[in-house]
Amino acid sequence: MELPFAESYRIKMVETIRKSTREEREKWIKEAKYNLFLLKSDYVFIDLLTDSGTGAMSDKQWAAIMEGDESYAGARSFYRLKDTIEMLTGLPYVLPSHQGRAAENVLFSSIVKEGDILPGNSHFDTTKGHIEYRKAVALDCTIKEASNTELEIPFKGNMDLEKLEEVLKTTPREKIPCVVLTVTNNTAGGQPVSMENIKGVSALCKKYGVKLLMDSARFAENAYFIKTREKGYENKTIREIVHEMYEGADYMTMSAKKDAIVNIGGFVAFRDEADMRKAQMFTIMNEGFLTYGGMAGRDMNALAQGLLEGTEFEYLETRINQVAYLGKKLDEYGVPYQRPAGGHAIFLDAKKILTHLPKEEFIAQTLGIELYLEAGIRGVEIGSLLADRDPVTRENRYPALELLRLAIPRRVYTNNHMDYIAAAAKNVYDRRESITRGYKIVKELPIMRHFTIELDRADR
Ligand SMILES: *Cc1c(COP(=O)(O)O)cnc(C)c1O
Repeated sequence: MELPFAESYRIKMVETIRKSTREEREKWIKEAKYNLFLLKSDYVFIDLLTDSGTGAMSDKQWAAIMEGDESYAGARSFYRLKDTIEMLTGLPYVLPSHQGRAAENVLFSSIVKEGDILPGNSHFDTTKGHIEYRKAVALDCTIKEASNTELEIPFKGNMDLEKLEEVLKTTPREKIPCVVLTVTNNTAGGQPVSMENIKGVSALCKKYGVKLLMDSARFAENAYFIKTREKGYENKTIREIVHEMYEGADYMTMSAKKDAIVNIGGFVAFRDEADMRKAQMFTIMNEGFLTYGGMAGRDMNALAQGLLEGTEFEYLETRINQVAYLGKKLDEYGVPYQRPAGGHAIFLDAKKILTHLPKEEFIAQTLGIELYLEAGIRGVEIGSLLADRDPVTRENRYPALELLRLAIPRRVYTNNHMDYIAAAAKNVYDRRESITRGYKIVKELPIMRHFTIELDRADR
């Protein structure tokens, strides 16, 4: 018979996780002001809050940690990192940073000014935060198909090229510091961007003389989808595809906590030395000297090794198959989610589950709380809490999609855990009619409120 799929690694170290009772969880979530970010991790059985920094490092990464060079300047570990990034992407100038948003801060400090416009395919929340904080506009040009969760198309993260061209045509060039292409498109459901689309975006940038930034947290997962879904790429290696993806890029920011499988780290990479020179002062001011930028030497070593492992086909196949496995289970139970299954997460379609809950009561957040109460599983809201208020009118923004993201950490959980998650989602889905009351905001910060927001049950 045909041999079934099996993981391309085995387990060398384990960490105990504990179940809890529903009564305990009711108490804990209330104490956490109904904000899953404010829960102690010990109160969570399966933690799907994020796949960021939560992956399991390999034996080779731990070995690289021991070999870290902690020199303040010119550390060997920096050059190992820089050489790996250049080998993979062709971008030769690298500024390390402590994580992705710090990389954004360094780059945007040097290129974004008030009134600027940065078109992109669903900017990630910290990216948008850094743009709006500088009184610039993050203009969404994602293809409209991305907001139809039932539609199965292979590259749902794509940029709408017509819309992008319209923006580039009608906006003075000096007001567009760069176009932001996020691979994979996290906000739209971990959906990939095709090579054809990447090249289309890059051609438009060239045509209008605008720079291209690749927001690259999950660039390797994107390359995997290109290999397995796009014609002409079947026989290319992941690394060949990655190199091609970056051919038209001027800048790259990366949260290494995703596809580089480290617990902390990030960087900005540049094609032109002059662009790097403009930004380096902000690294020195905010992160550290140019050859460590907020990271220990050992962390840069683990990151360099993680970039190599993260771009191996067998690893990516194992990873993406696990997410797809959870998707298949949910199909069996009829639980609606953003289709097809994304690279790093399943996004439950909260509006299709809690159909009678008004949007003012935060539909996806309500679903997240219910899943936690049901089984001690922690997901994260990608909906109107995350969408925040309009920076000008201060009104709540209600996006087309209310999603509950179940992000799968890399090399951490087994498929038995996936079965458990799917069963819990089914139980919540089966009792959806009885979930009739959502939540209201009690306290919030003016920017990126979702991390610290305090909620209470909605008045009825
Ligand atoms: C995670 C992420 C970031 C921010 O990175 P942090 O390491 O969390 O600061 C930026 N863009 C994308 C697409 C991300 O997924």
